[in-house]
Amino acid sequence: MKIHEYQAKAILRSYGVKTPYGEVAATVAWAHTVAKKISARGGDFPYVIKAQVLVGGRGNAGGVKLAHADDDVKTHTKSILGMSIKGETVKQVLVEQGIAIKREIYLGIIIDRARKKPVFMVSAAGGMEIEQVAAETPEKILFVPVDIMLGLCDYQTREMACFVDMPKDGMRDFINNVKGLYRAFIEKDCSLAEINPLVLTLNDEVIAADAKMNFDDNALGRHEDIAVMRDEAEEAPLEREARKFHLNYVKLDGAIGCIVNGAGLAMATMDMVKHFDGEPANFLDIGGGAKSEQVAHALRLIVSDPRVNTIFFNIFGGIVRCDLVALGIIEALNMMPNWNTPIVIRLAGTNEEQAHALLKDTPLIPASTMSEGAQKAVEISRSRR
Ligand code: GDP
Ligand code: MN
Repeated sequence: MKIHEYQAKAILRSYGVKTPYGEVAATVAWAHTVAKKISARGGDFPYVIKAQVLVGGRGNAGGVKLAHADDDVKTHTKSILGMSIKGETVKQVLVEQGIAIKREIYLGIIIDRARKKPVFMVSAAGGMEIEQVAAETPEKILFVPVDIMLGLCDYQTREMACFVDMPKDGMRDFINNVKGLYRAFIEKDCSLAEINPLVLTLNDEVIAADAKMNFDDNALGRHEDIAVMRDEAEEAPLEREARKFHLNYVKLDGAIGCIVNGAGLAMATMDMVKHFDGEPANFLDIGGGAKSEQVAHALRLIVSDPRVNTIFFNIFGGIVRCDLVALGIIEALNMMPNWNTPIVIRLAGTNEEQAHALLKDTPLIPASTMSEGAQKAVEISRSRR
């Protein structure tokens, strides 16, 4: 799950990370009020007006603007609210005290699966997207894996500070921020926490000018405070639908809709489709049951993506019985009389003979193995392009 910058900053602030004062606003009038509050606290122009959307690259899209006077606050807020950034409509702006920037640093933590550890990434090339730095000048990034049993050690934070040439006066802030970010990352079960840019100011303070936190969905059960921050309106609409029906669904960009029982099999199915030069439209694990209702929801969901022209059902009956799944599919199709997307189906395992008998008089296209099914689905999909 992703949260907005202003929410991430509030969390980081509670962990001692230095952030500029600011508040979120959904109207021009309120943005103006926030600007007054900043001024009342002794703040000076420029202020920053920032689009709150869950995608990155707002700066380049015109979603981050400096306001040098009250009028700027109004005009910038007006122009940013309602703006579309990478398909997301801006509904709120963060109005914040501007920072006088000497240098921009990148500081982030991710989980590194190969190392099985959280890994800090730090770079003096802040402000740009780290993916670009990694691709073009990887030597500009320092990776610091942290042993979670030992925790973040002082020599590691010093190593990071040295790598970005932190001046002596900024050292204390820098180290506090790194430690705060690490604690927030661990305690809140993040999958990513990033400050880009972490700014070294003209008077050598170190302040988070931006913040991004992603959370492990499976840990949200123990973080009610974070779960309520979910911005439903900004999730992919199909994924929101899927969550409502308890379907494990991830949308992709291909034309072959995959419906599979079991996450591992679903991954393997996508690989197999790719192997035959097809492109899966989604990851979808319908779980063990495959009741007709679930199947119908899954089918509707997948074909509501206009790119999808073929469906590949790949079911392995271990605990679940194939004949029940077949009945579920037939029932689901009966609920959708205008169905016209070809469905390739591979059903193997418990009671597969009965299942095949049930499907014999339906338009479903049988396959006896997973690879045969994937191949057929790819061929059919290609012929329908
Ligand atoms: P992003 O483009 O979505 O990552 O948005 P950021 O919050 O990172 O802002 C993009 C860029 O705007 C930063 O890299 C800075 O160069 C600039 N910026 C952001 N906040 C301030 C600020 O307070 N003062 C100044 N002078 N520039 C800022
Ligand atoms: Mn940024």
